[in-house]
Amino acid sequence: MSICYVNGSFENKSDAMISIQDRGFNFSDGVYEVMSFSDKFLINFNKHIIRLNRSLENLKIKKPIINTKSLRIILQKLIKLNNLNDGYLYLQITRGSSTRNHLFPKSVMPNMVIFTFTVKYDENLINKGVNIRLTDDIRWGRCDIKSISLLPNVLEKQRAFQNGFYESWQIKNKFITEGSTSNAFIINKDNTIQTHPINNLILGGVTRDSVIEIIKKNELSLKEKAFTVSDLNSCKEAFLTSTTVKILPVIKFDNSKIGDGKPGKTTKTLIQKYDDFIKSQING
Ligand code: PMP
Repeated sequence: MSICYVNGSFENKSDAMISIQDRGFNFSDGVYEVMSFSDKFLINFNKHIIRLNRSLENLKIKKPIINTKSLRIILQKLIKLNNLNDGYLYLQITRGSSTRNHLFPKSVMPNMVIFTFTVKYDENLINKGVNIRLTDDIRWGRCDIKSISLLPNVLEKQRAFQNGFYESWQIKNKFITEGSTSNAFIINKDNTIQTHPINNLILGGVTRDSVIEIIKKNELSLKEKAFTVSDLNSCKEAFLTSTTVKILPVIKFDNSKIGDGKPGKTTKTLIQKYDDFIKSQING
């Protein structure tokens, strides 16, 4: 039995209900977060909360739970109720339920839903690396908000999958912004690690942020500057980051190999260091 949290109560997932007038359902008027837990410990919790609050503030959606400590207790309880050690939490907050009208309702309580999920660990993805498909970035101009409106991401991820690719990397004005579900990095021939800067064109990934901390701590060279397809073509390694997959080597784009077509040395080092970084959070 899987237990979820809906607006203040813990319920069986198959019995849980939200109004058909929920503005998330009607307008995608809401935000979400996905966080991971390991040994029941919430990984990168503060970074996720900062991003969640920022998304809510940007869309002028009320915070359903003001106190971060209370939210942490709810998440921890949900992990316990679902009897899980390792997995992920999906948290969604919408503006609330109201008669359908584009204008914000005058007084409405936000709807909040949280559930846990697990992903089957596929060692092949890390050991062999993944391929990505390049595509146009057709998303809106506020990709920095973690909005539940994910249609372009869904369509491009599906198109990549149908064409035999793991992920798509999106191009806006000749520059690669990010993946449909992840942030994009390359490692240049001079060993500089390069990724798109934080702005409205990408989602500021929590994993991206943590990997950058690791890069800086290890005195590796970092450039937060958008890269082109030609940069991707001449780089020696590439990788992607997200909460669900952490760091994955990217070994091919479209029909072109990256480097020698195998996960690179620096990427492997970062994967190891990211695992250590997570362990150090768990062990306090
Ligand atoms: N960009 C997009 C578009 C994403 O959907 C995600 C995953 N939610 C990311 C980047 C990575 O973010 P994070 O590391 O916080 O999971």
